Amino acid sequence: METIPITIFDTTLRDGEQSPGCSMNVEEKLRMARQLDRLGVDVIEAGFPIASVGDFEAVRAIAASVRRPTIAALARARREDIERAWEALQHAARPRIHIFLATSDIHLEHKLKITRHQCVEQARTAVALAKSLCQDIEFSPEDATRTDPEFLLEVIQAVVDAGATTVNIPDTVGYTTPGEFAALIQKIRRQIRAIDQVKISAHCHNDLGLAVANSLAAISAGARQVECTVNGIGERAGNASLEEIVMALRVRPEQYPFATEIDSRRLFPISQLLTEITKVAVQPNKAIIGRNAFAHEAGIHQDGMLKNPLTYEIMTPQSVGVPDSRLVLGKHSGRHALALKCAALGFELERQQLDEVYRRFVVLADNIKQVEDHHLLELIGEIEDKEIRIPPAHVEELPVSLAVAAAAGGHRPASAKALAVLHAEKKPSELPLHPMTDHHHEEDYLWGV
Ligand SMILES: [Zn+2]
Repeated sequence: METIPITIFDTTLRDGEQSPGCSMNVEEKLRMARQLDRLGVDVIEAGFPIASVGDFEAVRAIAASVRRPTIAALARARREDIERAWEALQHAARPRIHIFLATSDIHLEHKLKITRHQCVEQARTAVALAKSLCQDIEFSPEDATRTDPEFLLEVIQAVVDAGATTVNIPDTVGYTTPGEFAALIQKIRRQIRAIDQVKISAHCHNDLGLAVANSLAAISAGARQVECTVNGIGERAGNASLEEIVMALRVRPEQYPFATEIDSRRLFPISQLLTEITKVAVQPNKAIIGRNAFAHEAGIHQDGMLKNPLTYEIMTPQSVGVPDSRLVLGKHSGRHALALKCAALGFELERQQLDEVYRRFVVLADNIKQVEDHHLLELIGEIEDKEIRIPPAHVEELPVSLAVAAAAGGHRPASAKALAVLHAEKKPSELPLHPMTDHHHEEDYLWGV
C-alpha cells in the first residue's frame, strides 16, 4: 500500500515547556533536542525567542547543533518578535519562523482589541516581513476552531498569498471534535487558492481528551503535518501526544495509510528522559509509554500473554522501546506468572515450593496492591528457611510457545526447570490451605475478562 508522508512537528520545547512545572533550561532543552533528532521528528519547535533570554539562547543553541530537522521559532505577528526569532534561528541548517495571530472574535475583541480588517492586514504584513528573512514560514490563526469559518478562510488566503509555506490550524482551547475538525480542513483545501503549494497542519489540545483523535481526523482530511509533544505535555490538559499519533498510524495502516520518519523504539526512552528532566510523572495508564501500558495483572490476561503475547497486545513493548512487558504481580495473578517471576529473579522453584510461595503470595497480595520483587524475595526466603522436602522434579520438554513468551516477557528467559513445574500434575494433598486461595486453581483464573 502506498503511504503518504506526514511531517511530525514536535513542540515539546515550546508549547510543552509552557505547561506548569515543565520549564527547562538551555542545557536540558539541548539534551531533549538531540534525542528528538534521533527519534526522527521532522521539525523541532525550539522556543519563543522574544519571551525570554533563556528561550532565545535555547533556540540559538539548538539551531547551531541540531542540523538534520527543521528548527522552528515562534513569533507573534509583530516586527520585534519576528526579528528576534530570526536572530536566534539564522544559523540553523533549516530555519522556520512560526508566526501566530488570533483570529476568533473573542480573542480579537478581548485580547488584541483589533478589528477583523486589522487582523488580516497584520497577518499579511507579518508573513511578508518574515518571508523577506526566511523561506520557510508557518502561520497559525490562533483559536482557529472558534473563528468564524469565512473569516478564517480570508486570513488563510492572505497569508498564503504573502508567502506562508505551512498553514497550521490550532485548536488552541481543545474545543473541536473529529468530525467538525475534518470538515474544517476539507473546507480549507477546497476554498483556498494555491493550497496545494502549502502544507496544512493540525495543532490540537486535549481539554476534552480529543487531541489525538482530532489530529488523526485532520490527517485523514488532508493535513500533512501534525504538531505534538512527548508525553502529551502542554498547556492545561496538554497537546496531542506524539507517541500516540505515531503508533496509531503504525498499528492501523489500513485505516491510516500514512508514514512518519519516527524510530518508534525511541519513544519510551525519550519519554523517560523528559520525565527525568521535568520531574513531571506520566500517569501510569498513559497509552504507549505509561508504566502500565504493557503491564498485565489480571490472571486470565497473564495466562494468555504467556501463551502468546498477541492475545492482549496490539503492539510489542519492544516496538516502542519498553524493555519488556511487565507482568505485575497482584491478587489477580496466577501461578504461571508467579513461577516466571521467581525464575526471573533466579529461583527455580520446585512444584511444592511454588505452592508454598503461592499461598503466602495470595495472602500478601490481598493486603497490598502490588507485590514487588523484594516482597517475593522475602517469601522465597521464608520457604527456604522451612527446608521443605522437595519431590523429584517432573520435567517435561519445554513447550516452544511458553519459552518464547518467557523470553519476551522476562528480563531473563525462565529456565526449563522452572517452567516444567507448571506442567506438573496436581495432587489432592497440594490443594490450597488458606481459604483465600480456594478459587485459585492452576489454569483457573476468575478475574480480568
Ligand atoms: Zn498550543
